[in-house]
Amino acid sequence: MLEEKSAGLVIFRMDGGNPSYLLLHYGWGHWGFSKGNIEAGETEKEAAIREAKEETGLNSFTFFEDFREKIEYFYKRKGKRIHKEVIYFLVETEEKEVKVSYEHKGYKWLKLEEASNLLSFNNTKEILKRVNEAIEKVAYLNHD
Ligand code: ATP
Repeated sequence: MLEEKSAGLVIFRMDGGNPSYLLLHYGWGHWGFSKGNIEAGETEKEAAIREAKEETGLNSFTFFEDFREKIEYFYKRKGKRIHKEVIYFLVETEEKEVKVSYEHKGYKWLKLEEASNLLSFNNTKEILKRVNEAIEKVAYLNHD
């Protein structure tokens, strides 16, 4: 079986006392976080940062150093079954202006519940849940 490994960033910015998450609309049709293939010689984190810059036009990220979560899935390309692993890191940005690359059809900044509803796959919904818990540990969030 073919193996693929990607790395990505869950990107949020604080807005009105709680986080807004950046979701990208993939050409495949689904909504997810920024990610891409890890190239030879790159660390997971380097790949995730490079891809996020290319895919969103954002430049500056503050990492939650303890956050590193993995998802796995299978898909088929040209009739071949592929096992894929994606490692996600968590970052905050203060930038708002997003410029998606040709790879994506659009983007949205969304609060937790709306982001969870729009994410297409349960594994990324689960990542979002863990991300929110990690942010709640360190920030006082406005739940009004
Ligand atoms: P990358 O952004 O890592 O370069 P890609 O754009 O080539 O990846 P994926 O986003 O992995 O490809 O999508 C490949 C296939 O897997 C698509 O059919 C997509 O619907 C499916 N897929 C994408 N993300 C997930 C997921 N989190 N869980 C299950 N299936 C997924």
